[in-house]
Amino acid sequence: MSQKIARFLAEQQPETPCLVVDLDIIAENYRALKGSLPIAEVYYAVKANPAPEIVSMLADLGSNFDTASLTEIDLCLGCGAEPDRLSFGSTIKKQRDIEAAFARGVRLFAFDSQAELDKLTQAAPGSKVFCRILVDNSGADWPLSRKFGCELEMARDLLIEARNRGLDPYGVSFHVGSQQTDLSQWDVAVGRTAMLFSALNEAGIELKMVNLGGGFPARYRTDISEIDAYGDAIMKAMTHHFGNRLPAMIVEPGRSLVGDAGIIQTEVVLISKKSYDENEARWVYLDIGKFGGLAETMDEAIKYRLKTPHDGGEAGPVVIAGPTCDSADILYEKAGYELPLDLKVGDKIELLSTGAYTTTYSSVGFNGFPPLKAYFI
Ligand SMILES: *Cc1c(COP(=O)(O)O)cnc(C)c1O
Repeated sequence: MSQKIARFLAEQQPETPCLVVDLDIIAENYRALKGSLPIAEVYYAVKANPAPEIVSMLADLGSNFDTASLTEIDLCLGCGAEPDRLSFGSTIKKQRDIEAAFARGVRLFAFDSQAELDKLTQAAPGSKVFCRILVDNSGADWPLSRKFGCELEMARDLLIEARNRGLDPYGVSFHVGSQQTDLSQWDVAVGRTAMLFSALNEAGIELKMVNLGGGFPARYRTDISEIDAYGDAIMKAMTHHFGNRLPAMIVEPGRSLVGDAGIIQTEVVLISKKSYDENEARWVYLDIGKFGGLAETMDEAIKYRLKTPHDGGEAGPVVIAGPTCDSADILYEKAGYELPLDLKVGDKIELLSTGAYTTTYSSVGFNGFPPLKAYFI
């Protein structure tokens, strides 16, 4: 935990649950990523944490933004990012939203289907468009496969069709899956991308950009490689498949910029057992759960690190659950979490690296629990 966050929690004693984000860490993460991939343009994936404090700061640092809705577009514009620094990167858009984005000056759009291309032809004439391709997401803790992207053969036809319709067939995008820990996945995806570049070359179209997506990790329970290792793997993949004719490169980090910058403080509401069986795990109920912002614990996919006041003492197995009256609101049952035997009701627990994909996943008030409160310091 950063000293700034520790001091804030000690001095302010905010009501729990709450998220505290250290903006300096986000700035550091942004600079580290730029340092490890100097020739790539960064488009922050706004959905990871759309707080205006974060978006404004990244806009000042020179970041571009990957957006998925008109609300996110207006947020970025309002925070000082010009429209030519925005990508409307969702492949699932309403035509009237495309029109509105175009009217605001946005000229870079994603698509992965004929029907979306139809909308872009109508609503964003002449714009730069990039086609998202399907890639395998193995190695990712939070896959983004299947739902987005199309096969290479279809992507080729769609990009040719884009040119025929007066759009600018600008490039190719993919996402190797969020929290991707297998560095070789970029090589596979870049290889497929390069095949598509060749196929289009044969059709007289020179694509100009590869959008390498997100997938860079935050620090959860499992060790991860440093960001430089990701930069190296990506540059190796690019030179391996494109030689010295490198196209423009875009990365769209979400999780890796903001995840480690945030900490959720929560309070133990109840510790109980279901029987007199000595070997049975304790149930530890927190004042935050799946509906309070921890949706990524679905299927125990994202495994946050926990910090308690009794760390170091003897620990035992636990089931960790949220406070709501829904039995889906269990965070960890199978992942093998242990907590100190001294843990008691009223103790504060910190969930580390919770700056990404938490505040906006929080429900508006299920069971009367208010949305996750957040502080940006
Ligand atoms: C969510 C998303 C990202 C961000 O992914 P991370 O794994 O959080 O870095 C990037 N690009 C697109 C298109 C996305 O949908």
